[in-house]
Parts: sequence; structure tokens; C-alpha cells
Amino acid sequence: MLMHGREALVVRVTGLVQGVGFRPFVHRLAGRHGLAGWVRNTAGSVEIDVEGSPGELRAFLAELHAEAPPLARIEAVESRSHAVSGRSGFAIRASVSEPGATLPVSPDVATCPACLAEMTDPDNRRYRYPFITCTDCGPRFTVIEAMPYDRQRTSMRAFSQCPACLAEYGTPGNRRHHSETNSCPACGPRIWCTDGRGTPLTQGTDETLEAAASLLRLGGILAIRGLGGFHLACDATDETSVSWLRKRKHRDAKPLAVMVATTAAARQLVALTEPGAELLESAQRPIVVADRVASSPLAPSVAPGLGQVGVMLAYTPLHHLLLATVGRPLVMTSGNRSEEPIATSNSEALERLGGIADGFLFHDREIVARYDDSVIRPTPGGAVFLRRARGYAPLPLELPVPAPVPILAVGPHLKNTFAIADGARAWVSQHIGDLENLETLEHFRDAQARYGALFQVVPRAVVRDLHPGYLSTQEAERSALTMLPPVQHHHAHIAAVLAEHGRRGPAIGVAFDGTGYGTDGTIWGGEFLRADLEGFERLGHLRPAPLPGGDLAVRSPWRTALGYLSLESRRAPLFARAFQAVPVTQFRIAQQQLERLLNAPMASSIGRLFDAAAAVLGVRIVSEFEGQAAMELESLAAERVAGELEFPIVDTADGWILDPLPLLASLGVGVRNRQPVADLAADFHASVARTTALAARRACRETGLSTVVLAGGVFQNARLLGSVARRLRGFGFEVLVPRQLSPNDGAVSYGQVAVAAARLSRSPHS
Ligand SMILES: [Zn+2]
Ligand SMILES: [Zn+2]
Repeated sequence: MLMHGREALVVRVTGLVQGVGFRPFVHRLAGRHGLAGWVRNTAGSVEIDVEGSPGELRAFLAELHAEAPPLARIEAVESRSHAVSGRSGFAIRASVSEPGATLPVSPDVATCPACLAEMTDPDNRRYRYPFITCTDCGPRFTVIEAMPYDRQRTSMRAFSQCPACLAEYGTPGNRRHHSETNSCPACGPRIWCTDGRGTPLTQGTDETLEAAASLLRLGGILAIRGLGGFHLACDATDETSVSWLRKRKHRDAKPLAVMVATTAAARQLVALTEPGAELLESAQRPIVVADRVASSPLAPSVAPGLGQVGVMLAYTPLHHLLLATVGRPLVMTSGNRSEEPIATSNSEALERLGGIADGFLFHDREIVARYDDSVIRPTPGGAVFLRRARGYAPLPLELPVPAPVPILAVGPHLKNTFAIADGARAWVSQHIGDLENLETLEHFRDAQARYGALFQVVPRAVVRDLHPGYLSTQEAERSALTMLPPVQHHHAHIAAVLAEHGRRGPAIGVAFDGTGYGTDGTIWGGEFLRADLEGFERLGHLRPAPLPGGDLAVRSPWRTALGYLSLESRRAPLFARAFQAVPVTQFRIAQQQLERLLNAPMASSIGRLFDAAAAVLGVRIVSEFEGQAAMELESLAAERVAGELEFPIVDTADGWILDPLPLLASLGVGVRNRQPVADLAADFHASVARTTALAARRACRETGLSTVVLAGGVFQNARLLGSVARRLRGFGFEVLVPRQLSPNDGAVSYGQVAVAAARLSRSPHS
């Protein structure tokens, strides 16, 4: 091994080390320590071969960890010594692919400050260049077709580097040394504008930006090709434009996201806490949901009825250039028709957004993977994901019990994600959408095929939800993989939170959401479970009520209120407000459904309880989207100090239930006494939080457990989540809440795969 006091090492680095400037970093480091050898990407790791003096090698290894590029996440460094060969010089070698090896792929990274500075410097050759990138920033997962990460396996393959770019690429120490997305105005992608039918109107960057900006300033709707798909944009301060966009997109009420150039500009729209500003400025650039300030110039239609609005910072050079040219905040919403996946190719956008957009801002760098913007809500108890996509997915999560064979989890029906597990790693896909139309189903299939190829995992078994009729269930059946026992929806919710915290349980799980299929065939959603990764027992739940009209009830809080009323009709006078504006025929049909129990499934859903409360308060009797009523109630409650209303826990023949009838009736009394609705909304939150905490304490006492897991879409409500968690900690319990994934159904696939892995490890032959 020793030769003239020299040693040689082979070093293997695993983790998030590709697409983050790791090889150029190793090159610099080797130079600093006078080491000879090479570095290369393999499909499973970064491999380094170095030789030099033992002291320098030791320092090299230490700094490999300590000074790794900011975007890298090193999982492990293994080194072993080998024969010294007396080489000189250090090289970045061509990548090698290895079958069966897997490695995290870097998500996309927002334009870095160094690139921004160059882009605004008139003397720089990339002045106003809309595709400026370097090893620290730019597209990654949205352009990568296969691993290892190399230009020829990305959609940048279509653009050959010019001599000036090649020189940077080949120069050690340069910020673009081995930058796979490197390009410039002479050799890179281009932008142009077209009218609403796709007829080109401009060429050249400046002319295109001017045309795009003037269309926006005049109140037009512009479809913009971005990183993970198209956005539909308009002037966020122009009420007419924003309402036009809603009308054309058939999006009646869901809040729209707004993009600005700087944090200072964001502060003119929303009140940002310190963690909120940090999230906003992070390299992931999510949409950050924050309180609207009173002086905000935003059009009311951006987030109707809500005190909060989602804001993000420009994250591509094109965004920066466009915002600087327009000079006002822009609505930037997913480029899709209502409920369809976001459009990615130019032709797809023309076809699907043609009736919505007045013009298109195109570019010619193909989007390989479809990605929506991520949405995060900072709360006093920590940040809560509302949607996990661009910037975050597909970074893998650990599994507390490794999967003995590769497993595919097909996820839930709504807000679908899927997950693929191999050993202790689980890749949770980006937000796919509601599996209710063919386009979303195709997105689901494409993304799955891509994940399999990228991570070189071939699932051998598949796990699904308990519901027999879901499209995801049919997909599981169609896959021809070994079918594993299905996982109940709320068990998956609890398992997901246990698993992300590295736990196996048992714990008390409080699963609050809209709807999930229960083991008894009814709809669940207000569940107190004793759960571990392998199974669960239902200890208590919200008192079930019939939902007249079934799925229709999700959009009709008044129907849910009527369902509750059917349990105790003597309370009718207190529910009067819920039915005030309901058409008589619809009301009669719903009543008949309840009388005959036809199309009126029983549900123990807290999501529906929020709907019923909103109806009784007269806040909302018809919803445009699931969860709207709950969001409005939370907005109304704001920071008000609340009293508590009666919401008892009642013993029944089969377990205990939380009876919301007295609670709804108290709201009705408040309405009759002309109490401010906002105060009643605050009282409602406080009462639900108090009873939830008491019920969880009861569950802990019954089982001797002291850890409580909170999960389910209802806990996107920061007021409720914070209040329940505080009370439970006050009782002395440990509380686990969703951190890396959303409380909502986006986490279900990870829960399914965590359960399946745990069950399989126990009985490998089942
Ligand atoms: Zn950069
Ligand atoms: Zn170039």
C-alpha cells in the first residue's frame, strides 16, 4: 500500500450528491490537498479514487463532509485503501451506470444569487438570459430522463454547448465546471410569444418579454412555460383579470397563488413571520401561505373569503425577467383546466389552455417530469405541507421497518401520491392529483414508470387502500404484482406520521379528515385508533351521521347539517340558517334520502362536521371545493379568544363516541342570540380541540400509551392542530405531527408502504 509515503483510497459517497455540484467540489478539494486521481458519478453513488500523503487524505475525507456543497445531503462515506499507482493530476471522469443501484435525484433549485447578479450585469455574456444556471442552481428533476445525472440523459441534450460554455464546463474552479445544464444565449434554449392560437408574435428575449409584459399589464391571461409545467398568469392586482381567469379555468373559489420578485414585495401583500420568510427564500421556493395585510393591493378574487393567501418568489431566471418587466405581482396558478394535471409540452398547452389564455410564453427546453408548485403553511408549531411537489419530491424518506421486497403503494383516491419502497428508502411521488379523470390517471402511470426507471427499482408487490372501487385499486389490480393486504385509509395516515418520525408504535392515532373507507364499510374520518405499523384497533370515533346524496354532500354543507339534524329532529329550529337558501326540490329529495336511508351513507367525518358547523352558522351552505367551509371558519376565528361549547364524549355499546349534536345546537343558539359569527367560529374550534384532547387522553389511559399522533387533512387547520397539540402536551403526552409530508391524503401512500413493509418483515412468506 505504501509507496514513498503515499496512500491511495477508493471513496464511495452516497446520498443526495448528484446535480448539486459535488464532482467539481471534490475536484477543488483534491487540488487543495495535492491529491491525484479522479471522481465520477455512478448510478448509485459518487466514486472517488485519490492518492497522496496520509495526512492530506485524512483532511480531504474530513472536509468532504464538512464543506460539502449546500444542496448536498451525504448519507454515507465509505473508503478503503488500495494500491498506489503513482498518478498525477485529478480528473472528472465519465459517469458509469450500474444496474440495480439507486441514488436520490436532486430536486430543482431556484436561481442562485451569483447567477442573478450575472443576469443583471450588462457586461456579462448572460445578461438577461432566461436560462442561466450553474452547479448551484437550475432545473434538475424536471429535466432528468435517467441516471446517472449527465447532460446526455437530460432534456438539455438538445442544446450543444458553444465553445465559451464548453470552456467553463471544462475549467476546474469555475462555477460551471461540469454544470450539466450549462448554456448561454448563443447555444441554449429560447423564448417566444404567441397569440392564443399559437401563432408566433415575437422572437428574441427582449421583444418577447415586452410583449408578455404588455399583455399582462393590459389585463390579459398569459400561459407561461415554467420548470415543471405551465402556469396561467395575470395581474394579481386587477380584479377583472383575476375573475376572468377563474371563470375561464372553471375554478370558482380555490385560492390562487401569487408570485413576486423579492421578499420585500411579498411583505406588501402578506405578513411574514421569520420562518415564513425563510421558507419563501429557500432554494425550494414553495408557495408560502400567510395572512394577507390590510393594505394589500391584491384583487379580492385571488383568495375569496380567506384571510390568507399563498405567495412565492420567482424561482427561474425567466420569472425574474418577466416580473421585472411587468413590475407588479402576478397570479401564477397551475396551467390546467380544473382538476386536470398541469400541462407540460407546448402542444399540450396549446390544446388544453387555448380557451383560457390570451397568449403563450413558450420556451424550447422540454419538461421531462410534471411538477406542481409545493405549498407550505408556516404555523407556530412548525411548517405544514399542504402540497409536496417541486423542490421536495422525490427526496426519499426513511422507513422504520425496511421493505423486504420492493413495494409499490398506489396511494389514495384524492390528492393522490404514490410511493415506491426499496429497503429502508421510500420515494413518495410529487402531488399527482385526484384520480378522477383519464389525464390524471395517465400522469399517475407515467410518473410511476419514471420513478421505477430513475431509481432502478422494480416493485414486486403492491399495496392499496381498502376501498374496492377506487381507480388506484384498479391500477393495483392491473399491475400484475403480488397483491398485499389493503391498508385502511386512517391507519395509513397514522402510520405515515409514525414512520416519518422513525417509530413503529404503538401509539394513539387521531385521524381527522374528510372521508376514508372504514373496515365496517361506512365512511370514517373522526377516528381514535390504537395503532402500530402493522395494525390498529378503533377505540372511539365521532358520532356517525347519514350524508344525504353521498358524494354530493362534500360540496353541500347544508346536506351534512341535514344529516346531523335527522339524528335529533327536535333541534330543527336551531339549524334553520343551514337551509335558508336551499332550493325546495333539492331539500325534499335530501329529506327523502334520509327517511329511506337511500344514498345516505353513514359517516363519522370531522371534515363533514366542519361543513355542518359552517352551514348552521350560515357561513357556507354550498362549497366550491372540499374543505372550503373549514378554511373559512378558521379564517373567521382568526386570533379571537374563544369560549367552549358542549361537545361530550358518550359511552355506547361498541366503544365511545364524540357527540357533536349539542355542539351544533349551541352554535344555533349563538346565531339566534345574534352573537358574532366569528366568535362562534372561534368557540367551535376551541370546543373541538378540547374534546379531541380529552378523547385522546381517554384513549391513552385505556391503553397505557403516552404518545399521540395527529394526522389527516383536517389538521391542515393550524388553529386546530396547534390547540390540540398544546393541550395534549399539557397533559404530559408526547405528540407527533406531520413534518416531512402533508397531514392530508398526500401522505397516505407513504403510510401504506410503511404498513406493508412492516407486515411483510414479520411474515416474509405471506
Ligand atoms: Zn446559479
Ligand atoms: Zn454557450
